[in-house]
Order: sequence, then C-alpha cells, then structure tokens
Amino acid sequence: MIQFSNVSVRLGRYDVVKDVSFSVDKGEICVILGQNGSGKTTLLKALSANAPYTGHILADGKDLSGLSRRERAAMIAFMAQNLPSPPVSVEKLISFGRQPYTGISGILSPGDKRIISQVLHRTGLEHIAGKRVDRISGGEQRKAFFAMMLCQQAPYILADEPTANLDVIHAKSILEMLAQRKTAGDGVIAVLHDINQALEIADKILLMEGGRAVFFGTPRRFCKKKFPLSHFGMERLECTGEDGKKQFIYK
Ligand code: ADP
Repeated sequence: MIQFSNVSVRLGRYDVVKDVSFSVDKGEICVILGQNGSGKTTLLKALSANAPYTGHILADGKDLSGLSRRERAAMIAFMAQNLPSPPVSVEKLISFGRQPYTGISGILSPGDKRIISQVLHRTGLEHIAGKRVDRISGGEQRKAFFAMMLCQQAPYILADEPTANLDVIHAKSILEMLAQRKTAGDGVIAVLHDINQALEIADKILLMEGGRAVFFGTPRRFCKKKFPLSHFGMERLECTGEDGKKQFIYK
C-alpha cells in the first residue's frame, strides 16, 4: 500500500500541496482529478522523489524518505507528463527501465533481456523496436515510455496524464495496459483529465483543488456527490450499453 499522511509541498513561496492524506492498495487504480494548477503533478513528483515534501509517504510500510534512489525505483515506476525524445532506439529506451537492477554498468543479464522482449511484445512495440524514439509519433513515444516503466517491474506505477494528446486507439491501449497492471496486482496512480476515462478505470478517485484533496473515494460516491457537475461543469447523459445496461456518461 502507498500511504500519504499529511503531505505538503512548498515550492518557492507557494504551498502547492496542502496536508494531503490518502492511500492506494496493490491491485487498485487511483485516478487523480482536478483542474490545472490544483497540485496533481506535484503530488506525483513528491511520490517519485522529484519534489521535497513534509509529512510521510509510506510504500508497503517503508518511509520513502529512508530509501535510496535505487530501492525506491524498484518499488515505484513513474511516467512524467512531459517526455523527452532521446535519439535512441525504442528497445534501448525500454531497456533503461532495468537500470535499478543493472546499476550504472547497464549490462543486461539474460533475464533482463527476456523481460525487455516480453514487454515489447505485450505493448505491441516489436515492429518499431529498432526505430529511434525521436523519429516516431507522439502516441508511439508515450507508449514506449510506458513500456520502459513496465520494464522496471515495480509494484507501484505512477502515470501523469498518460493519455494526453493521444488518439482514441492509443489512449484506449494505455488505459487497457493500466487495467492489466491492476489485474496483475500492481498499485496504479494516474492523473487523468477525462472524467469518463477516470470513471471507467478507477477504483478510487482523488479530487484536488487548490492543493488540497477535496474528495477521496469510489467513483460511485464521486458521482453521487455530483462532483462532475459541480466541479467540472459537466452534463450527465444516460445511455444504454450494447449489453442493455444503463450507464451515465459526462460531457
Ligand atoms: P496540476 O498538475 O494540477 O496542473 P501542478 O502540480 O503542476 O498542478 O502545479 C500546482 C501549482 O504549483 C501551480 O499553480 C503551479 O504554477 C505551481 N508550481 C508548480 N511548480 C512550481 C515551482 N517549481 N515553483 C513554484 N510554483 C510551482
């Protein structure tokens, strides 16, 4: 379990995250929602050791501040929102996910190589394994970084807007892969902007506003409390799925 207890982040003169507490279990997806500037990215940065914080963050009972970078990388994999386009092949990029295990030498064991080829296969990137990351589409790049994160084989994965700027097919494929990680027993924390995507995959929703967590709970409660309407100004539409079940979508 990842547990945030009274976590605050101050950047410069600003309190960007204020006293946030919530927890995410293994085998669960927690989606963080909130308007721009509400502190979502900063919260993930605190968890991935990219922002200083006060309070406590525990992963499986261990305080993250007491772990080395490598120990932390073996527990938590992070995909940032703004990704670089390095001039290396997709396969090479994915192999960087093994760094917490290979050390600085970067020498891959047969086991590491097996994991890389399994991830290439699972993510459907085999056909572009040899292409350079700076010469593939934005959607393919995001998928390649996602694959690198999978290669890290950490039990917790964090993804900051993993579906941003992706076409429907790439976005669907990333969401499916997040759901697969949950089924495989990983704990997933993802920042998403699309309420419908969030409601589709989340077990828990954390709603941020002005650096504070204003809601944490199930998607059902999130909808019952009418947050999509009150907070995001959305309309609720009722529709019937192919299976005849009624469902709501927000637009
Ligand atoms: P979100 O991901 O919800 O859009 P962020 O976590 O990126 O929000 O940012 C929250 C707030 O913190 C914003 O108002 C942003 O301008 C501010 N902020 C982000 N980084 C810094 C920084 N390095 N120094 C000062 N303020 C920052």
